[in-house]
Formats: sequence, C-alpha cells, structure tokens
Amino acid sequence: MAPSTFQPTSWRTPDIEEYRAQVRRFVATEVAPHQQRWAKQQHVDRELWNKAGALGMLASDVPSEYGGSDGNVAHQTVMIEELTAVGDTAFSISVHAIVQQYILKQGTEEQKRRYLPKLASGEMVGAIAMTEPGGGSDLQGVRTRAERQGDHWVLNGAKTFISNGFLADLVVVVARTGTEPGARGISLLLVETKDRPGYRVGRVLEKLGQKGQDTCELFFEDVHVPADAVLGGETGRGFYQLMTELPYERTLIAISAVAAVERAVQITADYARERMVFGKPLLEMQNTRFVLADAKTKALVARTFLDRCIEALAEGRMDSVTASMAKLWTTDLQCEVIDDCLQLFGGYGYMLEYPIAQMYADARVQRIYGGANEIMKELIARSL
Ligand SMILES: Cc1cc2nc3c(=O)[nH]c(=O)nc-3n(C[C@H](O)[C@H](O)[C@H](O)COP(=O)(O)OP(=O)(O)OC[C@H]3O[C@@H](n4cnc5c(N)ncnc54)[C@H](O)[C@@H]3O)c2cc1C
Repeated sequence: MAPSTFQPTSWRTPDIEEYRAQVRRFVATEVAPHQQRWAKQQHVDRELWNKAGALGMLASDVPSEYGGSDGNVAHQTVMIEELTAVGDTAFSISVHAIVQQYILKQGTEEQKRRYLPKLASGEMVGAIAMTEPGGGSDLQGVRTRAERQGDHWVLNGAKTFISNGFLADLVVVVARTGTEPGARGISLLLVETKDRPGYRVGRVLEKLGQKGQDTCELFFEDVHVPADAVLGGETGRGFYQLMTELPYERTLIAISAVAAVERAVQITADYARERMVFGKPLLEMQNTRFVLADAKTKALVARTFLDRCIEALAEGRMDSVTASMAKLWTTDLQCEVIDDCLQLFGGYGYMLEYPIAQMYADARVQRIYGGANEIMKELIARSL
C-alpha cells in the first residue's frame, strides 16, 4: 500500500530501497517457499541464519568493526516489512537483533568483540530469556539465580516462551545475582549454550499462531558460566539494561504490526475486488468500502506515527513512553483491522489456506509479548 502524500519519509532513502530489493529477493527464494515446512517442524532451518548472515542481513544496524553493516534501524525495518509481506513469522530476526543491541549498547568491549561478529555471520543465533513459568510481566520477580563460586557463576532456574529457544547458541538470561530485593539484584548473563552441562531446551511449544517460530522452555541446572559473562561486567545493572533496551524491542514489534495492517488491507481489497456477492464485486458493497476505507485510514495514521518512531530510534532519541505507545496502539490496531478484514472473506477467512486466517492467528500474541499491552498502559500512565 502506498500512502503517497507522506512518502518518502526521511528513513526511506534510495539506499534503503536498494537494500529492500535485495531483501525481497532473499525472502522470495529462502523464506517464502519453506514456510509450511517450517510451521510443521516448528523452527526455521539452521542454515537460514548463515545464509542471511553471509548477505549482511543479520547485523544491519551494527557497526562494521563488530562485523555489522554500518546501517541503522531502517535496515532492520526493511527486513521486518519484507518478511511480513509474505506472512512470515518464523524467522525471528527481531529477537536476534535485540540481543545484538544489548551487547552493542551495554556490553564490555571484550563481549562486543567476542559475540557481535558471530551473531552477524549467523554462526550464533541469539535469544533473550526474561519470562519464567511463574510470571513474565513482573520482571523484578525473577527467580532464576546465579551464585558466584570462584571464577564462575552457577546458574539455576527455568525460563519459558523463549523465542529462538530451540536454535539459540547465545542466550541473554535475566537472573538474580545478588541478595538485594527487586530490581537491584538483577543482572543479565550471556550464556553460550553449546556443550554446556546442565543447560536443557524443553519442548518447542505448540502455539495458536507463529507456528514456524521455535518458542521454547529453557532449563538451567547448575549451569557453570564464566565470571565475565555478566553483560557490561558489573552485577546489579540488569533491570536498568532491560529498561534501556526495551524501547528498541517495542518499536520493532510496532514495525511488524503496521506492516501487517498494511498487508491485511491490501489482500482484503484484492479479494473483495474479485469476490462476487449478489451479482457484483464485494468491493462495491458500501459496507466493504467503508470497512476498508476505515482500515486504510488507520493504516496511514499508524504508518505516519511509526515513521516518526523509526526516525527517532535511528537518531538515538526514542524514549520509553513513546515506544510503549507505539507497541500498544499498533498491536491493538493490528488485531482490530485483521479481524475486520477477515470478516470480509466470509468462511474463507477462517480457512488457514487464506493468508488472512494465518495473519489473524499470528497477530494475537503481539498484544501479549514484548510487555503485555496492559503493562504498556501502566508505563504510559506513569508519564501523565
Ligand atoms: C509467542 C511468544 C513469544 C515470546 N517470546 C519471548 C522471549 O523471546 N523472551 C521472553 O523473555 N519472553 C517471551 N515471551 C513471553 C512474554 O513476554 C510474556 O508472555 C509476557 O510478558 C506476559 O507474561 P506472562 O505470560 O507471564 O503473563 P502474566 O505476567 O501472568 O500476565 C497475564 C496478564 O495479566 C495482565 N497483567 C499483568 N500484569 C499487569 C499489571 N501490572 N496491570 C494490569 N494487568 C496486568 C495482562 O493482561 C497480562 O497479559 C513470549 C511469549 C509468547 C507467547
């Protein structure tokens, strides 16, 4: 969908559009043909990460001195938009990018040099493990604990709903490293998973949607982690680090939400143009025209706000409240618009072979993860 008056925005430079053409080709050959198979096996093929890494698509917003492509969040946006355009939710590059940002912004020089090139090439797949079976919204209540013993930490606990969990080689684990209550005792540990005794990946969870994404339980039983695995090298800073980096994650979720809204409007208009009801195209019914006019208007309003968010993030001035607003509003909108669009497909809208049905199932979690939308409202309300 092309909202003409407001394009191009500052982040859509000719370079970015050139990059988009490259990403589109990659998605058409390496992602789209495999989606059904990935949904069945519940994860993408491991080689996909290496292929994307070889083309510089895994670390577009990481400096080249750490193996990245010297781009910014606009490049990341293109990747998310192009994956959304083919309805892909399996290739969780956003989570991988979030791990990179944690290390880039919060890591020690040694941690950046050790991990960022491997994450850029796809040699390592990243995951972030905050949520525990006992709760995800209340991050200060984490129970996973790391105790210092000599030159290493001993990690014990369980995490759940971890995206990229099955394939992850590097997991950023939120753990309690101190006895202080609440936020102060929390640190982020960089845990390499390969040949790590005591580390166990549970089952890949059966989900309502996003079936090709490997969302897992992770278990840590006396897992030994080197002393220098604490992100940034200093304990007790984990909560602060999470709060600092969550706006990036929430903006990426908003980017995928708006891309999905735009796709829903497009595919529904295409369908309504072809589908005949009462002897004329469905699109000629006033209700159809009004529903899609509403949806298209909302899509453009969302896009206009989102573009400002992307610019702010690219320029390093995105604040937590605005990112929460973006995540809250665009994901609510995504579910609302897709539901309205699905209705126009009639019974076909309920059939998974129609993309709108898959989009409906995939969308629902957007209001839950990355901080439930109720938590977004709490964060926004604190700024009143
Ligand atoms: C597909 C998927 C992928 C995920 N990927 C990851 C990942 O990669 N890493 C990770 O760490 N986590 C991940 N999560 C977990 C996700 O972030 C949590 O599910 C989410 O934060 C909510 O936590 P919870 O499920 O424990 O719900 P709870 O914390 O039990 O909350 C349940 C509900 O209670 C309400 N609620 C909670 N607190 C408040 C409040 N203060 N005020 C008002 N209402 C409230 C909200 O409606 C909320 O949805 C993923 C989840 C899913 C489903």
